[in-house]
Amino acid sequence: MGGAISLLAVNFIIAQIFVVAFLTIAAKSRAGQPAIWCAAGFGVASLSAVFETVLPFTPVPRLFAIGAFASVLAGFSLLRLGLGFFYRVPVRLPVLAAFFVGSVIVDLAIYDLRRGTLQHAFFYQMPFFVIQAWSASTIIRSRRRSYADWILFGLLALSSAYFIFKIYAAIAAGSGTTAADYLASPFALISQAIGAMLIVGTGVAMLGVMVKDIVDEARASSEIDALSNLCNRRGFAERVAPLLRQRDPGTLILTDLDRFKLVNDTYGHPVGDEVIRQFSRVLLELMPSRAVAGRLGGEEFAVFLPRVELDEARVLAHGMRAAITSMRIDGLPEATAVTASFGVAAIMSGESLEAAIQRADKALYAAKSAGRNRVECAEPPARVMPHLVGRP
Ligand code: GH3
Ligand code: MG
Ligand code: MG
Repeated sequence: MGGAISLLAVNFIIAQIFVVAFLTIAAKSRAGQPAIWCAAGFGVASLSAVFETVLPFTPVPRLFAIGAFASVLAGFSLLRLGLGFFYRVPVRLPVLAAFFVGSVIVDLAIYDLRRGTLQHAFFYQMPFFVIQAWSASTIIRSRRRSYADWILFGLLALSSAYFIFKIYAAIAAGSGTTAADYLASPFALISQAIGAMLIVGTGVAMLGVMVKDIVDEARASSEIDALSNLCNRRGFAERVAPLLRQRDPGTLILTDLDRFKLVNDTYGHPVGDEVIRQFSRVLLELMPSRAVAGRLGGEEFAVFLPRVELDEARVLAHGMRAAITSMRIDGLPEATAVTASFGVAAIMSGESLEAAIQRADKALYAAKSAGRNRVECAEPPARVMPHLVGRP
């Protein structure tokens, strides 16, 4: 009995730790609602430890036995609710409520059945199996498939299977003949020990998927430029890097708005900002879907075209150049056309992004020098001639 009570205490404390952890996540993330429901789930489920501890000493064991059952089931239901919000697979509240109330009524009905029998074990454990399987199915129904999601799915599936195993264990090991002597049974010890492991595993996995979301979101926003909604320099380099490792990496278009300082000085900074927004939209609309666009700084942009040859990229750049001149910008007089200059460079195998940017930048500079609103192509990179190396 002492062992089972110690485990109940451990489970209770673990649940409180998860309550704090989920509340911390709720406070730190913008989408805090799922974490609040999970905190509530662990908080409510932990009440079962209190009910079960008091159970052997109370004159109304029936009340406390039902309380223990209902608090665990309510806790799991709240976790299902939280997972539903998190994975955007909402549960229908009346269905969940009906399931909960129905299960509690069944538990009341089987209270006087002999424990350790198939009927009692089946009706007692089934609701837990259903709610955990229901939670696991939430992940399958969502489109998320990261390792963290699979781990959580695995633990929820294991946890639901565990309640089926408990039906067998309750009969084989004996769960005490009454609710009060349940704590003295070997079944209580096994049940609480495995339960604790599954609570910790599932709780950690839930925290894991939520923390991963926060980290992914922070990382994504640190790589996106707020004004243009394109990648910033870091995000651009990050996305292009893996594409550069291919044998024929593709082509880089570098573009810079012409006389943009004049736009700002004449019509104001907000109008300049609008030009940047529209310019970015034009680039996104005209580039192929597999291309990567970035705002490298100020009014300078880059588009990386994977596996696209120089000639094709030049045609595309001309299309962008023409589209930009016909952009309509609020705050700019109708007759005022915004223009941009373009430098295009075919990236060589093994060439670094920085080196390709430098070559495209030279072509861009040539386009500016030649009068702006033009497209120029870069020379291939200078190669080291092996037969010249070592000669005087
Ligand atoms: P060029 O044709 O030679 O490129 O001339 P330019 O005037 O476009 O180039 P310059 O480098 O002299 O000026 C760039 C201007 O871009 C200066 C800066 O105020 C403006 N700029 C940079 N970032 C932003 C921004 O986020 N919003 C606005 N409105 N202006 C910006
Ligand atoms: Mg400029
Ligand atoms: Mg510039």
